[in-house]
Amino acid sequence: MPQFDAIVVGSGPNGLAAAVTLARAGLSVRVYERNPTIGGGARTAEVTLPGFHHDICSAVHPAALASPFFRAWGLREKVDFVIPEISYAQAMHDGRAGVAYHDLERTVEGLGRDGAAWRSLMKPLVDHIDGVTDFTGSQLLRIPRDPVTALRFGLRVLEQGTPAWGLRFREDVAPALLAGVNAHSIGRMPRLSTAGAGLMLAAHGHARGWPIPRGGSQAIIDALASDLVAHGGEIVVDHEVDSLDSLPTARAVLLDVTPRALDRIAGDRLPDRYRRALGRFRYGDAVAKVDFALSAPVPWTNPALAEAGSIHAGGTRAEIQAAEGAVADGRHPENPYLLISQPSRVDPTRAPDGRHVLWAYTHVPAGSTEDPAEAVINRIERFAPGFREVILDHRAVSASELEAYNPNYVGGDISAGAVTIPQLIRRPVLSTDPWRTPARGIYLSSSSTPPGTAVHGMCGWYAARSALRHEFGITQMPELGD
Ligand SMILES: Cc1cc2nc3c(=O)[nH]c(=O)nc-3n(C[C@H](O)[C@H](O)[C@H](O)COP(=O)(O)OP(=O)(O)OC[C@H]3O[C@@H](n4cnc5c(N)ncnc54)[C@H](O)[C@@H]3O)c2cc1C
Repeated sequence: MPQFDAIVVGSGPNGLAAAVTLARAGLSVRVYERNPTIGGGARTAEVTLPGFHHDICSAVHPAALASPFFRAWGLREKVDFVIPEISYAQAMHDGRAGVAYHDLERTVEGLGRDGAAWRSLMKPLVDHIDGVTDFTGSQLLRIPRDPVTALRFGLRVLEQGTPAWGLRFREDVAPALLAGVNAHSIGRMPRLSTAGAGLMLAAHGHARGWPIPRGGSQAIIDALASDLVAHGGEIVVDHEVDSLDSLPTARAVLLDVTPRALDRIAGDRLPDRYRRALGRFRYGDAVAKVDFALSAPVPWTNPALAEAGSIHAGGTRAEIQAAEGAVADGRHPENPYLLISQPSRVDPTRAPDGRHVLWAYTHVPAGSTEDPAEAVINRIERFAPGFREVILDHRAVSASELEAYNPNYVGGDISAGAVTIPQLIRRPVLSTDPWRTPARGIYLSSSSTPPGTAVHGMCGWYAARSALRHEFGITQMPELGD
């Protein structure tokens, strides 16, 4: 007799989304997590000084607000989000900035001669954001629910992901603003996968905004965990799973891990052909991160940057392209691209009165052991002279330390697998059900499956739905809302 109906390995957002779905279907579920705390890429902790709450990995959650899983589950009712008026901004030289407001028309006004071109790029996507979410929120090769929006999105990706990206804008701010958001996905530019991720995020920036959870990303995880427990689920922390043989018996095991770890943990239970396919899965370049405790807000030269939830630093599109090209060539860029979140500007619970936290990461070659702190501080100083003086403390994490913290980030690849068009089509294999392995009862539920990176829970939800159908004969999906 199985001891549990289902076991989930890993308590990231996808692992917990899978566990919640299974528990709400009435199954007995246990989650194993190797770290002392749950949450994977959505933990919040005091890693610098007492009272300063830092998001260790994810900080900004457009994907969570858009996620069909989270919407059905009622995330907005369970977690308090702050939506900054400025979704993201691009730090430019000479005190200039590009600003993407939540409000599309305000953004258009600020972009001068390129405003109309920004509107014609974004508006059809913003007006049909659910079509964009549907198209980008599952497997790439399938018939989309809103084919017209999918076509519009695809045409824009073709434009911005190829040398044609030079045709739309006349000045330098709008292309830099877009390049800043495109570069969320690591890789040489222009590139179709980078442009796809960027356009999707940019459209969400104008549609529902780029939300920041009050208290930190951990709030999302804590809400998932308490829902799981309320439906009879269990969570065991400090327990690394090395082999399926070490687990209690269960009809289904869902693994919130990479294909590399799946191969190691499931071993001989997987057919050789599938194991070879897992071995061909590639991991991408990496992230190195610094968390800062600050005595005061960052002294940005441009005042709009002080109001933005997220900042891309920065400079022109050519500068970002050069930085991303250097990383792809295996070098640490001279002028690195930075992704910055300043949550305490909108959420005062993150730091003591008048103090602030700052979250910043940069792209580096896979496996880099370099301490990113000086490069990050120098780059911020370029757009905010005096930044160094407001730093009370910092904690730097190299790409290789990121992997030690969470083995899903192979070599520091935060996407758990390179984000390329081929790997969006076969993630990790070409299949109508890539969450289900050929071995009975074994499922992959991490962001190494569609729709990939970000805190949306969709990979876990799809894996759980497949397990419910194939292992338990449950075709009526459980009610997720209260
Ligand atoms: C620095 C950084 C910034 C990011 N910023 C954002 C952002 O702002 N917005 C956003 O949407 N996304 C962001 N992401 C991406 C996002 O965090 C991930 O895409 C997401 O967390 C993936 O969820 P997951 O459940 O698939 O895996 P993870 O969140 O990686 O969770 C996997 C869990 O499994 C555990 N585990 C692994 N192996 C084992 C094992 N053998 N036994 C037991 N437990 C195991 C790990 O410890 C971990 O807790 C960021 C990621 C990083 C690293």
